[in-house]
Amino acid sequence: MTGIKENLDKIKITIPENVTLVAVSKTKPITDIQEAYDAGQRVFGENKIQEMVTKFDALPKDIEWHMIGHLQSNKVKYMAHFVDLIHGVDSFKTLKEINKQAKKHNRVINCLLQARIAKEETKFGLSFLDIDTIISSEEILALQNIKIVGFMGMATFTDNQTQLQDEFTSLADFFKNKQETALKPTILSMGMSGDYQLAIKNGSNMVRIGSAIFGVRNYIV
Ligand SMILES: *Cc1c(COP(=O)(O)O)cnc(C)c1O
Repeated sequence: MTGIKENLDKIKITIPENVTLVAVSKTKPITDIQEAYDAGQRVFGENKIQEMVTKFDALPKDIEWHMIGHLQSNKVKYMAHFVDLIHGVDSFKTLKEINKQAKKHNRVINCLLQARIAKEETKFGLSFLDIDTIISSEEILALQNIKIVGFMGMATFTDNQTQLQDEFTSLADFFKNKQETALKPTILSMGMSGDYQLAIKNGSNMVRIGSAIFGVRNYIV
């Protein structure tokens, strides 16, 4: 009925091997995730911490769980024992909280700083200047239980290819420039169902794809 495996296969042949596919399963039932898992998918993204915890508890333990949504600091503790990558970090305060919770579990949690690349006003994220301030700060050195491994960006919801391209390349250029620094970021998370091919063409090496795999979501999140 769902065609999840078919959708995954179709997407996988269009993305290069160096690009990680994060299957965004938010709002979708455990049976859908199991179906994707049985088709070989191991990396899943959720945007609500509580929902991700429930799914983590119910599903195979070799799944890599990514938190892609906006973070509420007070909920970080619920996922600190298992989350593999947090995409949407957009403040130093959140980094500090992730560090504190990771430390309790004797882990180092990988984080992406979310850059504000969209021209629309509604999107979360840091300016490039804010990111520079965070990664070059003295305080960051004290956070031994987090590792900033790259950046995440969400483009404007538009069909305008030129605008999308401008937004993607702005972050890709920033990412490239940071290769010369001690940070040496490895992950650039950009691209969703509607724009992932353009994002990859412009330097993305991690795409977050939901509806093109699992179908349209039943409610807005
Ligand atoms: C929902 C979501 C996605 C996936 O969106 P689709 O258009 O369904 O592929 C990607 N990234 C983030 C941050 C999301 O919240």
